[in-house]
Amino acid sequence: MSNTVHDVLIIGSGPAGYTAGIYAARADLKPIIFAGPQPGGQLTITTEVENFPGFPEGIQGPQLMDDMRKQVERFDAKVIFDVVSKVDFSQKPFRVWVNDTEYQSKSIIISTGASAMLLGREDETALMGHGVSACATCDGFFYRDQEIIVVGGGDSALEEASFLTKFASKVTIVHRRDEFRASKIMRERALANKKIEVAWDSVVEKIHDPEKKSVTGVTLKNVKTGELNELPVTGVFIAIGHKPNTDLFKGQLEMDEAGYIINKERTMTSVPGVFASGDVVDKIYRQAVTAAGMGCQAALDAERYLEG
Ligand SMILES: Cc1cc2nc3c(=O)[nH]c(=O)nc-3n(C[C@H](O)[C@H](O)[C@H](O)COP(=O)(O)OP(=O)(O)OC[C@H]3O[C@@H](n4cnc5c(N)ncnc54)[C@H](O)[C@@H]3O)c2cc1C
Repeated sequence: MSNTVHDVLIIGSGPAGYTAGIYAARADLKPIIFAGPQPGGQLTITTEVENFPGFPEGIQGPQLMDDMRKQVERFDAKVIFDVVSKVDFSQKPFRVWVNDTEYQSKSIIISTGASAMLLGREDETALMGHGVSACATCDGFFYRDQEIIVVGGGDSALEEASFLTKFASKVTIVHRRDEFRASKIMRERALANKKIEVAWDSVVEKIHDPEKKSVTGVTLKNVKTGELNELPVTGVFIAIGHKPNTDLFKGQLEMDEAGYIINKERTMTSVPGVFASGDVVDKIYRQAVTAAGMGCQAALDAERYLEG
């Protein structure tokens, strides 16, 4: 352990963490950013990002995140490519561990994001960003007049399916049970939509075709009869939920029942001096630009807290 007490440590290197880093560094707070298990965050597993302002032709997700890293490193900030393994927010200075190395800080910004839950299949990984998506808001636009599937049966799956009918010619919701978990209003809205069909009691058995690097169709399996069914679709939207990356902070910060951190005053958590920004707090918008905006807010709030 060194005796240095930092002004601010930032946990996470997605749009929220890097933006917090840029603002904290330019406020002369010399932040350290822990990049974590997914340096650059969720955008590193996608291809084209067309809705981040400033890129009229769009930009590849990994490129955008690499540029954000370079931008933060231009200032007096340090990115450490390691995972925070333990924290102690019960006393000041706050303490953060990366394995056996301990860091101390007067303030903390948490930007550990949320992970879209996926099917965990090899073909899904191979085709992520090439026809497989976990974000309808981000990628729906690419599927104008095409046939696609949405996997899931909760509120967000049905909401995404309804949203996707703005673009797609047909949306098949693939659901493993014979009724939706979603609320009555969402169910009614989805089932009344002429562009939406439902494959009940069904799971995705195969996504074609990783060799062609694009989605050309799916094989669905009926879990009750075992029957296989081929659907010639070009898009697969996975909408089976998100998990906030907050296990590390359990018992130390107030969270909601799903594990999202609850901010008390602007971006300040239930522990004064600990701030949270991005998808780790926000289960509504879940966009790179909103995460970046919150990262900026968290850095400004941390700066004011340190001054006070
Ligand atoms: C496939 C896909 C495509 C998308 N496309 C778009 C799009 O086109 N446009 C758009 O606006 N949004 C898109 N999104 C959503 C967008 O990526 C997220 O809203 C955004 O990345 C959230 O940023 P964040 O900084 O809050 O968290 P994340 O990007 O989730 O980053 C979290 C960071 O925390 C780090 N971390 C986690 N645990 C630890 C730990 N213990 N120690 C240290 N660090 C840790 C991770 O390594 C990661 O760097 C997409 C999402 C996905 C999954």
